[in-house]
Amino acid sequence: MIPPSVSLTSSTPGATGLLLQPDLPVCQAGFPLDRYDDAFKPYAEEYLALPDHTEASVLPWLDSYVLPATDYFGDALLLLAHFYMGGEIVSLIERYGGSVSDSYVLALQALRQPDKKVIVESAVHFMAETVAILAAEDQAVWITNPRAGCTMEMMAKDWMVDPIATQLVDRYGDDLATVAYMNTSGRLKALAGHTGGAVCTSSNAHLVVDAIRKTSEKVFFVPDTHLGRNTAHRLGIDPARIAELPMPSTLSTDTCLQDLPGGLDRLDQADLILWGGFCGVHTIFTTDQVKWYHAEGWEVHVHPECPLEVVQAADGSGSTNYLWSKVANAMPGAKLAIGTEGHFVQNARRLAETRGVEVRHLADIPDATAAGCGCATMSRNDPPHLAGMLDLLRRGEAPDINRVLPGDQIDDASGTRTRLSSSEQARLVRDATLALHRMIDITEAANT
Ligand code: SF4
Repeated sequence: MIPPSVSLTSSTPGATGLLLQPDLPVCQAGFPLDRYDDAFKPYAEEYLALPDHTEASVLPWLDSYVLPATDYFGDALLLLAHFYMGGEIVSLIERYGGSVSDSYVLALQALRQPDKKVIVESAVHFMAETVAILAAEDQAVWITNPRAGCTMEMMAKDWMVDPIATQLVDRYGDDLATVAYMNTSGRLKALAGHTGGAVCTSSNAHLVVDAIRKTSEKVFFVPDTHLGRNTAHRLGIDPARIAELPMPSTLSTDTCLQDLPGGLDRLDQADLILWGGFCGVHTIFTTDQVKWYHAEGWEVHVHPECPLEVVQAADGSGSTNYLWSKVANAMPGAKLAIGTEGHFVQNARRLAETRGVEVRHLADIPDATAAGCGCATMSRNDPPHLAGMLDLLRRGEAPDINRVLPGDQIDDASGTRTRLSSSEQARLVRDATLALHRMIDITEAANT
């Protein structure tokens, strides 16, 4: 519930356990003004003109926009953010009564809270689109910055995947089902739905792939080749029966199945066909980094978007909720190196410090060549976007480009949008919902 007026002090942590730090900058980005769309520029100008970006300066300014909106919308408003947002946005969303989680829990928010009619998300576009797919007609989903894309999702646009998927379906028919990782557009989730497959997240990929294999001989897994390989390893699938497709940038709309490495024989023998996408944030990790931390007496936990050899070398792997709970439940004196997105690790380090636990980013070793980078696109949702989105919504002047409907595609560079016709949208919602509900059913059944 959003309280009608929120007292923002640094002594009341939200569910993540994070506190605002009085002397730390509130914004991780501070973009130049040309990175804001016109409707948001006045908010960015005010924000950039603040004497500094510490809590003391930013909170009164942010309050002046957010609190009138939370008062105006009351319990109908739901603020959401993903764990990979910079720490201060995570703290701010919680301070204003919103919730922060991984992509599985975020996806269920509209479905689980039908009383929330105005849903505002600070995360990447596919996450907001997933909420919109599962939303009822009277629930509107908004994203604070529609240009916040996911580079992995961009490596598997429908126009890239569809030519290969169509040939696979032609060749294998009902023997092939698509499993679409949550980090895909609604258009690929719909492909999963109408080929008898399902959506999965990093927390349930093993459950979903295992369940789908009981009804389909072959699984076409999109887009993350590393999560696919890690899932196959966890399920004991013979590596010889995995066909990994090349980097998406090397494929064209004319690529035939027989042109792929290993040709048709390789595909015919495969139980699992992996699209060649990946996340640049999670592929900087190496087994040498794991070895270095182990030699220093640290435990290592990584996200399954990391390469298989890194996951195998680590002490454990799992979704952001898994990694957060490892830090939140570590005993005082524990030392944890975490292999995932940089903002998440910064947040985890701050939580850990309050409990006598040490946390470091896995890439942070002496003479490191790789920086522990954050998800730059997700961080495009910053305080000026949050303030502007809520103020514009309250005034009834929110730009339509910030409204998220199923099937929307945003061009990251130009900020332009392609939107499906209402009949195409309805088809997409039907198929993608099927794939999402299969995931939910599989996951809930495993958890009971
Ligand atoms: S961390 Fe990687 S996979 Fe996750 S949202 Fe960012 S670009 Fe996408």
